[in-house]
Amino acid sequence: MKRFIFLMCAFLVSVLLVGCSEDSSGASDSKTVGIAMPTKSSERWVYDGDNMKAEFEELGYEVDLQYAEDVVENQVSQIENMITKGVDILVIASIDGEAITDVLTQAENMDIPVIAYDRLIMNSDHVSYYATFDNFQVGVLQAQYIEESLGLADGKGQFNIELFAGSPDDNNAYFFWDGALSILQPYIDNGQLVVQSGQTDFEQGATLRWDGSKAQERMDNLLSANYSSEKVDVVLSPFDGISRGVISSLKAVGYGSGDKPMPIVTGQDAELASVKSIIAGEQTQTVFKDTRELAKKAVEMADSVLSDEEPEINDTETYDNGNKVVPSYLLEPISVDIDNYEQELIETEYYSEDEVSN
Ligand code: BGC
Repeated sequence: MKRFIFLMCAFLVSVLLVGCSEDSSGASDSKTVGIAMPTKSSERWVYDGDNMKAEFEELGYEVDLQYAEDVVENQVSQIENMITKGVDILVIASIDGEAITDVLTQAENMDIPVIAYDRLIMNSDHVSYYATFDNFQVGVLQAQYIEESLGLADGKGQFNIELFAGSPDDNNAYFFWDGALSILQPYIDNGQLVVQSGQTDFEQGATLRWDGSKAQERMDNLLSANYSSEKVDVVLSPFDGISRGVISSLKAVGYGSGDKPMPIVTGQDAELASVKSIIAGEQTQTVFKDTRELAKKAVEMADSVLSDEEPEINDTETYDNGNKVVPSYLLEPISVDIDNYEQELIETEYYSEDEVSN
């Protein structure tokens, strides 16, 4: 009997202790975050996902992290599954910003808040916040690099340039393009920059799903149709994967050797292969967006929302998704080339010396 009473007491004490620890808990206790990422084929999204998962887990959240390999239907069903499983919040980097409106209505019906990660989700009221980089500034940095390298502000010219844009289903692609053209257009208009192909519209330069092989194919066509007697001096590329596709195409017709120097080729994301390419003297520039910082921001936002607090934002004007202007936090991108990659990428421990040199 004594033993029974002792066991009962021990049981009651442990129930009370568990109860107490739940009462004094933060927002994270037994809450689950659903993270929908576009693809593992570009390494930045792998870092984004891993960084967020680690940060959320550190705060005590459960994490359901899914990649959709750039197939829109996969992403929609992954998000649907997360909603069915009853996640407490969704963090989404969409593949096609216009394709998840319906699934977000399901989230809304279940009172599951949504944070847009890096890419804006379009045409939905049900996007609470947006964590991203200053996307217009990304394009400005690429174009300013071209402007400075060629001495365009000093009146130098003419230089042949070809223009690549990102994926037309990604709202960011328009911001990158507009940022870049805000600097380059006057030089195209006054003839310091010449687009031999005449392809100066976003649609003509667009690269569906940011696919490097599609960019390579387009560059092959541009070169054979317009550059039998001319030389390319510059390629505006919005993303490292596209840059590497373009560089393969250029190398195949002899650029980078003899009397055909590699043109200036811009990029974005500081992907490892592109950092190596910069060190090897092929790609010229990239834009570094520290995914560790973005992950931290998105996690802070989600944690605030789940704690019924207002997250920190620094932009309430820029990102109109068609239904509403989504309150945002914009981080600053950094232009990187051979002169500052060590300072920006190695000293900050984004990459180790070994990673970039092997
Ligand atoms: C991101 C870029 C990335 C591109 C391709 C954009 O939405 O902002 O960082 O280069 O997608 O993945």
